[in-house]
Amino acid sequence: MAGFLKVLFRNLLEGPSTDPFPLGETFTPARLRGRAVVDPELCMGCGMCRHSCAAGAINISALPDGTGFTITIWQNSCCLCASCRHYCPTGAMSISNDWHSAHAESEKFQRIEQHTIKYEPCAGCGTLMRPIPAALAERLYAANSEIDPEKTRHLCPKCRQLEDAKRSICLLPSPGKQVTAASDGIRASAPTKE
Ligand code: SF4
Ligand code: SF4
Repeated sequence: MAGFLKVLFRNLLEGPSTDPFPLGETFTPARLRGRAVVDPELCMGCGMCRHSCAAGAINISALPDGTGFTITIWQNSCCLCASCRHYCPTGAMSISNDWHSAHAESEKFQRIEQHTIKYEPCAGCGTLMRPIPAALAERLYAANSEIDPEKTRHLCPKCRQLEDAKRSICLLPSPGKQVTAASDGIRASAPTKE
């Protein structure tokens, strides 16, 4: 009994220890998963986010004139799982810590994140495409000093393949050149008898 009274008086003196929101201030944990948002500068329209979204909250549709696409996130359908962020290869998709999701029923179709993203002509052949984001291109080609990331990121996949093929041809020995272990720095390693 004495223990119970002790706890009772202590709690009465200290007051409530729960969050006073909405009557008072609250706080947002740093890693809280809130509204999903897209950075239109980084989005390439690859569709990985749509594919990975179990809630079917993401739609990507081509513009009728073929000059780009629209990406839409239906906030009302989103279950804040962050799968889209996990699978987005360019870092375009992120989960903000904006948790303000209360809304009137009549507003549910206005709760969308939507961007219309335009294609750019490929620097090689002019085909409309999305350039690779600069930071991603730097990472992709960091191991190959022969590739200029800034130039390559503005090429469509076919032109990038063509550039790869040209580089590979340059690495081949020229016709008529005798390939020897000594000339190519190859160490001959003939099998030996045990
Ligand atoms: S947000 Fe990311 S995963 Fe989704 S289409 Fe854009 S680049 Fe692809
Ligand atoms: S957080 Fe989950 S449910 Fe929401 S849009 Fe991304 S993948 Fe879909």
